[in-house]
Amino acid sequence: MVHDLEKAELHLHLEGSVEPETLLELDPKLTLEEVRARYRYEDFAGFIESFKWVTGHLRGPRDYALVARRLLERLAAQNVRYAEITISAGVILWRGQQFGPVYEMLLDEVARSPVEVRWVLDAVRQLGAEPAMAVARLAANRVERGVVAFGIGGDEARGPVEWFDKVFEFARRSGLHLTVHAGETVGPESVWEALRLGAERIGHGIRAAEDPMLLDWLRDRDIALEICISSNVATGAVAALDRHPVRRIFEAGVPIVLGSDDPAMFQTTLEGEYELAAREFGFSEKELRGIAENGFRYAFKR
Ligand SMILES: [Zn+2]
Repeated sequence: MVHDLEKAELHLHLEGSVEPETLLELDPKLTLEEVRARYRYEDFAGFIESFKWVTGHLRGPRDYALVARRLLERLAAQNVRYAEITISAGVILWRGQQFGPVYEMLLDEVARSPVEVRWVLDAVRQLGAEPAMAVARLAANRVERGVVAFGIGGDEARGPVEWFDKVFEFARRSGLHLTVHAGETVGPESVWEALRLGAERIGHGIRAAEDPMLLDWLRDRDIALEICISSNVATGAVAALDRHPVRRIFEAGVPIVLGSDDPAMFQTTLEGEYELAAREFGFSEKELRGIAENGFRYAFKR
């Protein structure tokens, strides 16, 4: 049933989609055991380290194109019709790489895929406002060419949203949508702050479950949470699978979509997330269909 649903994937990082086999192709010196060990985390900081490690193997446009090709094949195989894929443009700049040639090759890959794709350019919170502005400019220059949103991700505790008010303002004026990773490792106040700065969707946002007023606000303003269950378990954002608040958030009437976040790094798929929601949290076929429809309803595609 899950496979037959036409799905949209709205919370998905290109760099987190690199399967161990693809990493070996990019760096033949690696071993499978090494990669698998890197893809297990003690905590959120450990995950961020591994994410950085993966990006260290993406040396230029060709490498990005290869991982995009593999990702698009896997999305098509899961009956994903539309995807908003996040690129950590902030990491590309931080590594001193050029974003332009990478993006052109990504567009070439998309042109060959049956999956309709739009892009979200993500800045790294802990690097601060200046580098984030550079990412927002890259995004603003590509609103006509497939970039629909600007986002921030990374370490919430070491990069509070309020640093980015001017960046968000610029992005909004440039015609970009805004999505913010918040309420993942930091509490509801981080989500409130993201909303204050104009976030239209929240990446994760699961800590909203601790704040009934916030749940009401999200429901009433029709702001969707991008929920990634396996991710939250793998990074320790929730203590255990059965402690995940997805059902509570859903019951509160907050619109949700399901996402795989970093599928290779969390050993999951979008279909796997739907199946998990059904198996562990009792989501019915009808509810899953509604969630799949949300993927298209809350898309940023114009
Ligand atoms: Zn994410």
